[in-house]
Amino acid sequence: MFSRQLIRNTGIQGRRLLSSSKPVFNKIASSPAAAKQPKKAGFLRWTWRATLAAAFAGVGYLTYEVYRETNPSKQTPQTELKPNGNKKKTVVILGSGWGAISTLKDLDTTQYNVIIVSPRNYFLFTPLLPSVPTGTVDVKSISDPVRSIAAQTPGEVKYFEAAAKDIDPVKKEIVIEHKSQRLHLGDAFTTESSDPIQTTINYDYLVYAVGATVNTFGIQGIPEYASFLKEANDATAVRAKLFNAIEASRLLPEGSAERKRLLNVVVCGGGPTGVELAAEIKDFIDQDLSKVIPGIENEMTVSLVEAMPNVLNMFDAKLIQYTKDTFKHMNIDLRTNTMVKKVDLKNVYASAKAADGTTSDIVIPYGTLVWAGGNTQREITKVLSSKVVEQQTARRGLLVDDFMKLFGDDSIYALGDCTFTKNVPTAQVAHQQGHFLATHLNKLAKIDDLEYQRENSDSEKADKLSRRIIKMKENLKPFVYQHQGSMAYIGDERAIADLTFGNWSSISWGGEFTFLFWKIAYVKMMMGTRNRILVSMDWLKSSLFGRDSSKE
Ligand code: FAD
Ligand code: NAD
Repeated sequence: MFSRQLIRNTGIQGRRLLSSSKPVFNKIASSPAAAKQPKKAGFLRWTWRATLAAAFAGVGYLTYEVYRETNPSKQTPQTELKPNGNKKKTVVILGSGWGAISTLKDLDTTQYNVIIVSPRNYFLFTPLLPSVPTGTVDVKSISDPVRSIAAQTPGEVKYFEAAAKDIDPVKKEIVIEHKSQRLHLGDAFTTESSDPIQTTINYDYLVYAVGATVNTFGIQGIPEYASFLKEANDATAVRAKLFNAIEASRLLPEGSAERKRLLNVVVCGGGPTGVELAAEIKDFIDQDLSKVIPGIENEMTVSLVEAMPNVLNMFDAKLIQYTKDTFKHMNIDLRTNTMVKKVDLKNVYASAKAADGTTSDIVIPYGTLVWAGGNTQREITKVLSSKVVEQQTARRGLLVDDFMKLFGDDSIYALGDCTFTKNVPTAQVAHQQGHFLATHLNKLAKIDDLEYQRENSDSEKADKLSRRIIKMKENLKPFVYQHQGSMAYIGDERAIADLTFGNWSSISWGGEFTFLFWKIAYVKMMMGTRNRILVSMDWLKSSLFGRDSSKE
């Protein structure tokens, strides 16, 4: 009965149906109702194959990139003359940060003799620096040695680990100084500088990208007692101080004022550096320290002190409010309208403004203190400003034109945090400026070659070359900054993002999904594949095993 009905429904020949049961099921699958099944299976099979192929391609690409980074090709050596007989100009790049390294990466180093000078022999991916004190990310994962970067360019690049001490824009000379650090055995924290070595180098073009330094506004006690978060060793120092305070507090009676003081982390400055650091430290306490020191999450306090009514002033108002709400939910003690006036070994002295406008003096005891109050010009930038008439009124940074050329000097280009432009000083700006400047200098090298060729040509050819040179000079386009948006980590696995799409649209996001986006965007923004892999592994490691709680 069943078989007959089946025959009717499916139109299967009785002979085959009766001979074996297996074909029945095959034929049933081809019935209109079941026709979708093999299609679905086929789709899944192809999806699986595509995923496998993509995974293989990804691994292959990564392997190739790592191989390329670690096995650089032979470089064209530095020479006085180019193969065409023209003089090879010298470009000195001061710095090894965002502006300097972005320039170096895109500069045609076969067209110039390039010298890079920086006291820091590595590039530091600053956006992830706030994750270092808590051990979410290892400092080595966000550092890329200058020598490795320099070895990957087509032409030889010389590197001097030194700081510029003086610049003579007339003679086009720079005095640079190297200071070695002598480590005292038995006391790894004490270092001493050896006798400095000085030398003078010359340039045809100077790419000035020395960044900025921390602004303490002359507030008493900050240089002596506060840590900063600007360089890799600052992050290590914050971690050491944090753990010193935590371990010392264990010896004191619960509830005592001294124990409470030691367990208070005070971060001064509610810009992105301060916010991200406060958020990372609070996460560390709540998510990991609480597992190894039960109860510490209730004892430790993280305070963020900001002079203005709001934190993160460059972000959309909704995202500022979202950050404040997140901080409240995380129990971060946010003190806006509170201006730090003085600091000593144990306390921060501030002036707090109430809603009615009245001010009162307050004292905030601390065990760990970090100053994230913003930036100011480096001494060397002040020295340079003093030597160029057009720069002498430049208080907030060097003044440059749309090609990043220093006002008052045709051979010096300045970029990044050491300049004062309409753009907020960020890595994003310095990175784009570096790319622009390298492209611009590459074009200047071509123009220079044509000019050399013109000098050695008959008048007819010289005329042709002149027209070409004029056209090339007219085609030199000024720098235009493309703002892609701002992002910040605000704790509890949440980030905020103000994203810009061209000139026509922007979107503000906040939350866990934004945190995922933040991670992807930062990995993409990193300059080397090695660092991308290391940071991804660090994130995986800390999510699997938690952040490490050893002091070193
Ligand atoms: P830097 O990157 O600071 O580089 C300056 C270089 O000059 C350094 O290598 C230094 O050693 C060298 N130098 C110093 N003195 C001398 C000298 N006398 N001679 C020669 N070399 C010298 N921006 C963003 O866009 N997004 C972010 O998420 C972000 N996060 C940040 C997080 C932190 C904790 C910090 C501190 C900054 C962050 N920034 C971020 C800002 C960004 O790091 C800076 O805007 C960017 O580094 C500026 O690049 P720069 O090349 O001008 O200077
Ligand atoms: P900042 O200048 O952005 O913020 C410093 C904060 O400290 C300000 O809000 C200021 O009001 C406050 N402050 C100054 N003096 C004070 C006092 N006496 N008492 C209390 N508060 C005081 O500095 P930052 O956060 O170090 O950032 C520096 C630069 O780097 C900025 O251009 C910033 O955009 C960029 N940055 C960007 C990111 C990001 O995009 N995620 C992260 C870090 C830094």
